[in-house]
Amino acid sequence: MKLEGGCHCGAVRYAISAKPMQSMICHCRTCRRVSGGLVVAWITVDPAAFAITRGEPKPYSSSPGVARSFCCDCGAQLTYAREDDASYIDITTTTLDDPDPFPPSHHSWLSHDIAWVKFGDDLPKYRKSRADGV
Ligand SMILES: [Zn+2]
Ligand SMILES: [Zn+2]
Repeated sequence: MKLEGGCHCGAVRYAISAKPMQSMICHCRTCRRVSGGLVVAWITVDPAAFAITRGEPKPYSSSPGVARSFCCDCGAQLTYAREDDASYIDITTTTLDDPDPFPPSHHSWLSHDIAWVKFGDDLPKYRKSRADGV
């Protein structure tokens, strides 16, 4: 498998060489403020299968132990990684060249949601993360 994607301006490109482990939509306040969007869709991949192939995204610590990355030129958010868990890296689904094959399996952090955000799907919804189980 080879998936490719990148930021809006093209300064940063990446490749993914393994099937994503999951796909979800995050409703958390931090995702909202760093993206300017209502929610952010993420795929989760094995870090060994992820490579930046052009450019150099800028890291940003959005909370202790968390590194997100962005394109320095256009500001597109590209990745999310935790310092205490090297088993995965999240990539913004919508920066894939073809996000169609990766619909979300669930919604997370509904507890942070804006009241008027409504999704018309029957996917599982979690007040926090699916890993938290609530
Ligand atoms: Zn860019
Ligand atoms: Zn989030």
